[in-house]
Amino acid sequence: MDFLAEAKRIEPEIVRTRRALHQHPELAYHEVETSKLVADMLESLGIKVRRNVGGTGVVGVLKGAKAGRVVALRADMDGLPVHETSDVGFRSKVDGVMHACGHDTHIAMLLGAAKLLSKHKKELNGTVKFLFQPAEEHGGRGGAKPMIEDGAMKDPKVDFVFGLHIEATRKSGEFGVREGAIAAAPDTFKVKILGKGGHGSAPHETIDPIYVAAHVILALQGVSARMIDPVRPFVITIGAVHSGTKENIIPDVATLDGTIRTLDETTRKLAKRKVAEVARGVCRTFGARAEVEFEKDAYPVTVNDPETTEKVASVLRRIPGTRVRRVEAMLGGEDFSRFLQKAPGTFYFLGSRNPEKGCVYPNHSSKFKVDEDVLKFGTASLAMLAFEFGNPRGPSQEH
Ligand SMILES: [Zn+2]
Ligand SMILES: [Zn+2]
Repeated sequence: MDFLAEAKRIEPEIVRTRRALHQHPELAYHEVETSKLVADMLESLGIKVRRNVGGTGVVGVLKGAKAGRVVALRADMDGLPVHETSDVGFRSKVDGVMHACGHDTHIAMLLGAAKLLSKHKKELNGTVKFLFQPAEEHGGRGGAKPMIEDGAMKDPKVDFVFGLHIEATRKSGEFGVREGAIAAAPDTFKVKILGKGGHGSAPHETIDPIYVAAHVILALQGVSARMIDPVRPFVITIGAVHSGTKENIIPDVATLDGTIRTLDETTRKLAKRKVAEVARGVCRTFGARAEVEFEKDAYPVTVNDPETTEKVASVLRRIPGTRVRRVEAMLGGEDFSRFLQKAPGTFYFLGSRNPEKGCVYPNHSSKFKVDEDVLKFGTASLAMLAFEFGNPRGPSQEH
């Protein structure tokens, strides 16, 4: 089976689908047209489709002729609230919305893989499940969780799950893999600092929440610098500060919005506790009060199963024209983590950085641009993983 050769044959179609999606991005939870396109295309391939799974999610089920395992392949479908300024001819037609994280390429690559696999139904062991999920970028509840709650990983129960992400900072054609933790738990929090407002000329009669907020912001970096084991990755960022209306009014309240990122549950728990303690303690020092609230539904750490990932790397190494590199973990969050809590699997990257084509801007940039020549590699890799892991004996080791 030469899935790369077959992916090359349908390359124009993969690119066409990608560009059509790129022109019509939809925000998290609103992937209505996108999921319709996905579901229609899967159905046209003879794949059994369930629509509206956990919202706008789509699940396709392709049963092979031979017995085997159930392998799920996942693509996320949402765009971002970014106004596109890239120089491509198929720029977003939706004002202020852009596929700036490449989820359009994920959909196109997975639909390509669905096409290749459906052609090989007779040789296919087991069942392939295609998971098209909404709202990866949303954070918090996200799109994977409602799909799982709606049964996406059951009937038939998934044995392995794989997800691919395009990465604009990695060289074109390079796969990035890593066993163990690969993406962080992104815990969002809000600190509400309750002071006592008054006149700007008489601060002694007030409790100035802006002044206190400044101390809290500085002190919170101490959680990272002095309270967390330095060999464990941890970062804390305050990304928004809100307070006040006018220079001579001391307001009643200031709010801070922040995020912490960790790669293991122990550090995560400790960091959350310390953030709350420090914020409350600093506020108390100055007579203010802090209300600290963490997002309850934050994404877990994305953990790749080591054994599965090793096998994935060996499959990827067989794709001519690509390279496989072991990568460092990143502190971004991914709700593919939720699927990995239900079945062993691997979240891996495909590089699309190509300076000769001007594809140098990072994911989430308004100039984000993908080297479309790599899409065939992504399609081939997904098809190969489904095909090989569906086999009850597992991926073949020969080259
Ligand atoms: Zn993103
Ligand atoms: Zn993304």
